[in-house]
Amino acid sequence: MQVNHHKQWAQSSQGRPISMTEFCSQSSADPAKRPTLLIGGVHGDEPEGVILGQECERWLTHTQQAGLIPSDRPWIIIPCLNPDGVAINQRVNGRGVDLNRNYPASNWSPEFSKDRYYPGPYPASEPEIQALVRLIEERKPQLIIHFHAWKPSIVLTGPSGADQAHSLSESSGYPVLDTIGYPTPGSLSHYGWQDLGVPIICIEEEEWMERDRCLHEIDPKKIGNTYAPALWQRWQKGFEALFCPSLKEERS
Ligand SMILES: [Zn+2]
Repeated sequence: MQVNHHKQWAQSSQGRPISMTEFCSQSSADPAKRPTLLIGGVHGDEPEGVILGQECERWLTHTQQAGLIPSDRPWIIIPCLNPDGVAINQRVNGRGVDLNRNYPASNWSPEFSKDRYYPGPYPASEPEIQALVRLIEERKPQLIIHFHAWKPSIVLTGPSGADQAHSLSESSGYPVLDTIGYPTPGSLSHYGWQDLGVPIICIEEEEWMERDRCLHEIDPKKIGNTYAPALWQRWQKGFEALFCPSLKEERS
């Protein structure tokens, strides 16, 4: 098993490539050895969630290549699910759909209060979600973590993800919540936990980048020495606890 980078794992609705990196051969019969799936850049106007995805991908790849993640902790990361939205700093995808309302969840609803929550014409109508649903069905992840930006918090849906959510909370200082506080029909939380029994952790990174500047700063080379390392520092210990059990033992 080795780290594989797929430059074009899927394609956005406007034809942009969506990349994926994995250390994962196939789905395992043993649920404990199934991969953790990580997803950044779900909403295109939340650059913190893209940067967290990119930093996490960089750390996972580097740490894996250094031999510090054991083979029974496989992972798959999609650092940016919504490149069309990121390109123009908008929440929704290239067809105006909120990807986190487009999952084929049992509570999917065609109703929406604001354009920014448009769930699409039917469940899983969008190519980004179709590709992700296929991946989830094939690889059967044991846990899914997705990265957003709002009020600093870690929203856990499904009690079997509690240990991981608490490790991430200890690392970041962000509280663990059991709900975001408003209904989210067709969301990953509902689809993952209520429909498939997979616990979902939603990281809401603190929203602080200036939105008009971030478009130019989303390039990791440009944000280089400032924002990204500071952000990653908050989370590294938490991800070490999830993926590197030996490092945790050494420290305690
Ligand atoms: Zn979001």
